[in-house]
Amino acid sequence: MDFRDGVRRALADQRLQDAYGKATGRFQRGRLKAFEEFPEGEALRDLARRIKAATIGELDRYLLKLSESGGPHRGGGWGAADAAEARRIVLELAARYGARRVVKSKSMTTEEIDLNEALEDAGIDTVETDLGEYIIQLAGETPSHIIAPAIHKTRDEVADLFVEKLGSPRLDRHEDLTHEARRHLREAFRRADLGITGVNFAVAETGTVAVVENEGNARFVSTLPRVHVAVMGMEKVVPDLASLAVFLKILARSATGQKASSYVSLISGPRRDGEEDGPEAFHLVVLDNGRSRMLADPELREALYCIRCGACLNACPVYRHAGGHSYGWVYSGPIGSVLAPSLADHASAAELPFASSLCGACREVCPVRIDLPRLLLAQRRQVVEAPVSERRRRPAKRGERLLVRAFAWVAASELRYRWASRLGYWLARPMARGGWWRPPFFGGWTRRRDLPAPAKKTFRQRWTEKD
Ligand code: SF4
Repeated sequence: MDFRDGVRRALADQRLQDAYGKATGRFQRGRLKAFEEFPEGEALRDLARRIKAATIGELDRYLLKLSESGGPHRGGGWGAADAAEARRIVLELAARYGARRVVKSKSMTTEEIDLNEALEDAGIDTVETDLGEYIIQLAGETPSHIIAPAIHKTRDEVADLFVEKLGSPRLDRHEDLTHEARRHLREAFRRADLGITGVNFAVAETGTVAVVENEGNARFVSTLPRVHVAVMGMEKVVPDLASLAVFLKILARSATGQKASSYVSLISGPRRDGEEDGPEAFHLVVLDNGRSRMLADPELREALYCIRCGACLNACPVYRHAGGHSYGWVYSGPIGSVLAPSLADHASAAELPFASSLCGACREVCPVRIDLPRLLLAQRRQVVEAPVSERRRRPAKRGERLLVRAFAWVAASELRYRWASRLGYWLARPMARGGWWRPPFFGGWTRRRDLPAPAKKTFRQRWTEKD
């Protein structure tokens, strides 16, 4: 979907606006409270950033260590250069084990590679087992938030969906809907021969993968079927268990405001002799899919620090109004807009870095302090400077180009800048706080928000008077 069309549609849908406003507001308040009650949180964010910077700086070494550290009990490790290769590997594994029924836990990496479609096309029955993912799978939609895929759905819509797709009676309470989903999912777990999970972190030192969740479904997915396949982006590696502990402390607080996630599964391989639980075989698929390009680019490398907590989405005024589906691919919000031109291959990808006011709210909340505004600017510059043959973004409109040139001309001279500030002041006064006047090109800007009254004196005047 074209981003602008998606935004227009989302803005016209008051129900959607309410759903996003409510859910992101709840997440934001939860995050704020969690860090207020956690004095060491800020220092841990600094430490987490240092760990990420060091690990991403030597990613090849840590990936090699990860591949060597599992020991003989570990199943296969697979490197996938792109989405097509990752799909092929998973399909080959399914064929090798004769798997006809797959259960999955929530994994944005498998969404990134369109794994469900590939499995279904191969005739493999595939069931998402995270409640939000299950809902959107039934609805035939894609996730609209990194950690809350069905954030855009109301309880009534879910109730209607269950009536239509599951043949359930009309259920009105959250508990009843959850119970109904659980009833169907238990059956899917029981019948599945292959389970697929994502990976939140992979510990290089021990070869352990950590899967973080709140529902317990990933634990079923990784233990009940005969085979477990975990799919991870190559940036998910952390050096050791001590580093893992740092990330676990800030991930849940940033994502949902919880002190800790309900379930953290540490998986180091299949069931060993004498053990009762676990799969017979375990395979780890490590996905590149454009990440090496970002790694090689000193301007963009920082984007690989992301631990997919979703906090930047909740803080972003653009995401909160545009909604996840407007972005047209799996990762939305500020981090999605940074990743899109490098990882995504769809028409809107190059537009997305421009979908930001650069207010900096995302940088404030990011647990690993990723400088998202700087990354968005870097992506914008790279998109604009790309050779014409490679450009996927439509060129700026004539009016937009003229406006930027006019600003550059004004800003290049102190005198012109000073006079323009005064002029802006006199133009903005009648517009402010629902005033009567709208300049011809800025009507859209004030249609949905107030323009605050300008200060009586410009910054430059106050600065001069200060002396
Ligand atoms: S960029 Fe930061 S805030 Fe956004 S999802 Fe990644 S880790 Fe979370």
